[in-house]
Amino acid sequence: MSLSENLEKLSNACGVAGREAEVRNLMIKLLKPHVDEICVDKLENVIALKKGKKTAPKVMLAAHMDEVGLMVKTISKEGFLQFAKMGGIDDRILLAQKVIVYTEKGALQGIVGSKPPHIQKEEERKKIVTYDELFIDVGAESREAAAKMGAKVGDVIGFDVKYARIGKDTVIGKAFDDRVGCAVMIETLKLLAKTDCTIYAVGTVQEEVGLRGAATAAFGVDPDVGIALDVTVAGDVPGVREFDTTVKMGKGPTLTVSDSGLITHPKVLRLLLDSAEENKIAYQVEAGLMGSTDAARISLTRQGVPSGTISIPTRYIHSPVGMLSLKDAENSAKLAAAAIQKIQKTF
Ligand SMILES: [Zn+2]
Repeated sequence: MSLSENLEKLSNACGVAGREAEVRNLMIKLLKPHVDEICVDKLENVIALKKGKKTAPKVMLAAHMDEVGLMVKTISKEGFLQFAKMGGIDDRILLAQKVIVYTEKGALQGIVGSKPPHIQKEEERKKIVTYDELFIDVGAESREAAAKMGAKVGDVIGFDVKYARIGKDTVIGKAFDDRVGCAVMIETLKLLAKTDCTIYAVGTVQEEVGLRGAATAAFGVDPDVGIALDVTVAGDVPGVREFDTTVKMGKGPTLTVSDSGLITHPKVLRLLLDSAEENKIAYQVEAGLMGSTDAARISLTRQGVPSGTISIPTRYIHSPVGMLSLKDAENSAKLAAAAIQKIQKTF
């Protein structure tokens, strides 16, 4: 299956942090043809192993399976679901979104509502409505009715958005952070049918709430080199200063020199830059970024693991719907594969 087909399936699946089962099952199915063994560790990371030569380095690829979302916190006596946020979500983008509440009895469709603007006071209308003033309306008329429909405190809530291709290479969809990394990881394995390196392709859990899955996965794998495949902010929209970011959608995979959790190991950065140059893959470089990726956590495992990140520029991340270029995703896989082929000479 093509990268686009895989991304469509992965994007449409639900995997709010800590509840990644649907994505995990999909990952196991999609990774299987390209690896020798697959296991799920105790935190429920997927670890796929492609065996290499004993003398060659062990490389850990990491793409997180979870997405930002919401969780039912309380159910009001009128039947409205009030929620906590799972991961970094801007309160301003929540209002009026269509969402899905994943209950044990099945999925419920709902809308994020607030006090209607018509009956707000002038000064209320100017204020940002914060998430604790919002609620999810699933059409239940009471707490008991909501419970009967299956809603419970602790149920996760995802955005109700379907993947779509809107241009030759341009796609929109939910949870591209980091389902595109998952799709790129599968594609990288496809390109590495023949390699001496031992590769652990890991779909991590709970990245959005503190890079948690990567911590246990990296401890277990004990790699020589770590590469996270994730998204980065594409700043090619109105209102973004050049100082903030120069990364553009469609201009190639992005290599992070430093973010708030990682200063990319110089040998890994050199490896990635040289691999891009030698294979004529257009790339972008960014530094001083807020936020971080699984690479930050992998790099601090045991006695330390030289690590770096290959990022796919994505617009509107951590919102209900993102946009990216499939060309960037394909080139990210090419770059990851080229770097792994070159790794033996460097490490
Ligand atoms: Zn991410």
